[in-house]
Amino acid sequence: MSFPTFDECVKFHGHLCGGVSMGYVLSRYAMDKLGAQPGDPLYCIAEFQNCLIDAIQCMTGCTTGKKNLVIKDEGSRAITLVNKDTGEGYHVTIDIKVPDGLSKSEASEYILAADPEAVCKAVPVKIDIPAKH
Ligand SMILES: [Zn+2]
Repeated sequence: MSFPTFDECVKFHGHLCGGVSMGYVLSRYAMDKLGAQPGDPLYCIAEFQNCLIDAIQCMTGCTTGKKNLVIKDEGSRAITLVNKDTGEGYHVTIDIKVPDGLSKSEASEYILAADPEAVCKAVPVKIDIPAKH
């Protein structure tokens, strides 16, 4: 399976905004770090519940319906994305300051133009995945 395009994530989310753009960059970075493809057995813990989460669901294939996406809304732009079989993966954060006064589409362009290596940070983790998942 190939990765959804950014436009597909926007369509899934329902509108173009900085949040879905950040979620796209964050989840793509995390997937690349993990060497994962959509459809792989993954498990994700997201530390937010806002526009970003829809891009995470679109890009990782982890969803609340499949119970491989857990939301612990702590207001931080971070996810833990791991292999569902091993529990090994990364805690990944995105830190990007969008200049004030940009429109939603300008903010999106600004975020997508950033170097993911410069705005994202990944730390290796191993977590215990609840057996029922
Ligand atoms: Zn949004």
